[in-house]
Amino acid sequence: MEKIELKCLSEEQLSELLCGLSEKPFRAKQIYQWMHQKLAVSPEEMTNLPKTLRQQLSERFSYTVLEKVVMLVSKDGSTQKYLFRLEDGNVIETVLMRYHHGNSVCISSQVGCRMGCTFCASTIGGKRRDLTSAEMLEQIYAVMRDTGERVANVVVMGTGEPLDNYENLIRFIHMLTDENGLHLSQRNITVSTCGLPEPMRRLADEKLAITLALSLHAPNDELRRKLMPAARACTIAQLLELCDLYFRKTGRRVSFEYSLIEGVNDRPEHAKQLAELLRGRNCHVNLIPVNPVKERDYRRSNFTNVLSFRKILENGKINVTIRREMGSDIDAACGQLRRRYMEDPE
Ligand code: SAH
Repeated sequence: MEKIELKCLSEEQLSELLCGLSEKPFRAKQIYQWMHQKLAVSPEEMTNLPKTLRQQLSERFSYTVLEKVVMLVSKDGSTQKYLFRLEDGNVIETVLMRYHHGNSVCISSQVGCRMGCTFCASTIGGKRRDLTSAEMLEQIYAVMRDTGERVANVVVMGTGEPLDNYENLIRFIHMLTDENGLHLSQRNITVSTCGLPEPMRRLADEKLAITLALSLHAPNDELRRKLMPAARACTIAQLLELCDLYFRKTGRRVSFEYSLIEGVNDRPEHAKQLAELLRGRNCHVNLIPVNPVKERDYRRSNFTNVLSFRKILENGKINVTIRREMGSDIDAACGQLRRRYMEDPE
């Protein structure tokens, strides 16, 4: 039988588990804090627990800790990219970005991805499996242990489609914001999706104060379907309706991600169409010059085109920023480091 993973359990579930071991329920809070606040790497470290209990925890349960395989630092020192090995040998990527307003960690939500976006390296080998909530949390904890620095923001924008791993994602968010864990504010968490309608509807009902980012990348359905197979499931109009629903239920405006690919989606007419589409909406657009991926022949828009694209949106009274590029010198585009490693682990 597979062992229960301690770091996936809520305090309440821990307390039930301890009852089963004839232990005092107050131990649950201690253990939870050791795991999620003090970031202990094993039950052995939990020194205010009786030795026998520590032993039982080590022997009877599993305890996820990620192993650092590679860490690359960008030339300017602002970005660090980690490759971590999971218990089953799979590897995942995590990125730390140091901004003026604090550190941001970008985590993966799955091993690989099955969404098939044509410009993305993460999807090339398909999806291997979902990450557990403990594996999502551990990416943040491992970065904190490695750097000794605090984390202010978490973005679920690494490899994988978070809404394709819904239950684990929601558990992860609750644990990350728990007062006996890192106690992040929900407002400092962003979840990015390629636009899965059913889970988006469900997410609105969770009434979380997290930021939802929608990967749009095209101003019309025809082009979007060429770039993103997931777009076949639903139209942009339907997605925008879901974004409105999310805003109504949570009061949080949605961000739209738009990766600019030379000659594909970066022309003035695309910008005009996008401005028309989003007119009057309380939203924010992030323009990201596409990161070229070795296996794909897309090129990044030249900077003049990026600026004129932004200008057209601004003229349409749309909030827009150009995503500062960080770490492109260290394969920071989704899934690139992992792919390189899988091709040549040396
Ligand atoms: N599956 C989720 C989250 C992971 S991808 C989603 O689709 O939103 C995070 C963001 O990076 C998405 O907006 C994705 O479309 C974008 N992206 C993927 N590959 C990229 C590349 N090569 N260049 C620029 N952006 C890319």
